[in-house]
Amino acid sequence: MERTLAIIKPDAVERNLTGEILRRIEEEGLKIVALKMVRISKREAEGFYDVHRERPFFDSLTDYMSSGPIVVAVLQGEGAIERWRNLMGATDPAKANPDTIRGTFGLSIEKNSVHGSDSPQSAAYEIPYFFSHLELVNP
Ligand code: UDP
Ligand code: MG
Repeated sequence: MERTLAIIKPDAVERNLTGEILRRIEEEGLKIVALKMVRISKREAEGFYDVHRERPFFDSLTDYMSSGPIVVAVLQGEGAIERWRNLMGATDPAKANPDTIRGTFGLSIEKNSVHGSDSPQSAAYEIPYFFSHLELVNP
């Protein structure tokens, strides 16, 4: 059973899309095994996106991710990483399939409503960034 980190980003929480996005996750058959709302600092956002530190969008991205509350969740299921990425859609909402979350709700390549781990390696970094062992339940 694979696990992945999902984030509902500030643009989506602010527009009251949390319920709709969680509904799509459950409809896909993925199990939510951890869930909370947090507001992270600029420093915490920088640590989370450490792999992007040298990218031109890093400063703006980490400002944005610390600009308001986010909802973080751990999703579990067979092929959870790829299934959640497929549900999210392409990074740029303009290029994402209209059925996907980003295609439906994304505002821009930065404010694209959701995050998902892109590999088992990134999930292994990202899940413990937000959740302790005790916060992950057995479904
Ligand atoms: N991002 C951005 N400009 C870009 C590429 C990415 O602002 O040109 C932001 C966007 O919010 C994206 C995040 O940085 O979700 C991480 O980028 P990545 O390439 O990892 O995309 P993702 O894995 O989220 O699809
Ligand atoms: Mg990524």
